[in-house]
Amino acid sequence: MSAAAPERHRGRPPALAVRGLRKVYGDGFTALDGLDLEIPQGALFGLLGPNGAGKTTLIGSVCNLVRPTAGEIEVLGHPAGSREARAMVGLAEQDINVDRFLTIRQVLVYHGGYFGLGRREASRRADEALELLGLAGKAGKTALDLSGGMQRRLVLARALVTRPRLLILDEPTAGVDVDLRAEIWRVVRTLNQAGTTILLTTHYLEEAEALCDEIALIRAGRIVDRGSATHLREQYAATSIADVYSQALAS
Ligand code: ATP
Repeated sequence: MSAAAPERHRGRPPALAVRGLRKVYGDGFTALDGLDLEIPQGALFGLLGPNGAGKTTLIGSVCNLVRPTAGEIEVLGHPAGSREARAMVGLAEQDINVDRFLTIRQVLVYHGGYFGLGRREASRRADEALELLGLAGKAGKTALDLSGGMQRRLVLARALVTRPRLLILDEPTAGVDVDLRAEIWRVVRTLNQAGTTILLTTHYLEEAEALCDEIALIRAGRIVDRGSATHLREQYAATSIADVYSQALAS
C-alpha cells in the first residue's frame, strides 16, 4: 500500500485503533506508557523496537491475553473485548504453542471449532490453510514430527483458519532459514493483497523495509515515530532503516 492508502480508506474504521494504552504489570513495571497507534485497513504494518519495548504486551492487549491498565483498543470499530473484534483478529504468536498430541489437521479444525465454525467448515478451512502453507502432506502428523520451520508455518496456518481481517504476526521469521523466510514473505504478501490487514513485529530491519508499507518504532511502551521506509529515511537523513532505528531509538 502506498501513501495514498489512508485516502482510499477514508470513512472506514481503522483496522486497529489504540488510544492511551497503559499496562502496569503486577510488579509495578510500566510496559506500555500511554501508547497511541492507528493502522488503516489494508496495511502491511511493521512494528520495530528493542527487546522489552512492549511489542508483545501491545499484541497481547489487542488479543485479550493481557488486561490493560488503561486506554482503549478498537478492531475495525469494535472494542477489542467484543465478540466481533475477537472474531476478526488472528494471532500467530512467537511461541510454538500447539497441542503436540493432536495431528496438525486436528489442531486447525479444533481451533476453528473454538471460534464457532461448524465441523465441515472448520475442516475445509484447515485443509485450505495447510495447502497454503505447504503442510498438506503432513496433515496426519503431530507437531512433534515437524521441523522447527514447519512448526512455525503451522502456527501461521492456525491463525488463518478464522480468516481474520487483522492478522498479527509476532516475529514470524525468527530463527527460520532463508527459504522459509522467503516462503513466509510470499504468504504474507498474498494475504495482504487479498485484503487482510497485517501487523507484524520483527527484529530484522531489512525485513520490515522489504515487506511493510508502513513502520512504527516503539521504545519504552510508546510509539516514537512512524511512516513508510522512504519517509523515515528522509526524515532522519538516513541511508537505511537500521540507521533510522538507531537514531530514533537512541535513548
Ligand atoms: P521482545 O522483543 O523481547 O519480545 P517486547 O517488545 O515484546 O520484547 P514485552 O514482552 O511486551 O516486550 O515486554 C515489555 C516489558 O514488560 C519487559 O520489560 C518485560 O520484562 C515486562 N513484562 C512482560 N511481561 C511481564 C509480566 N508478566 N510481569 C512483569 N513484567 C513483564
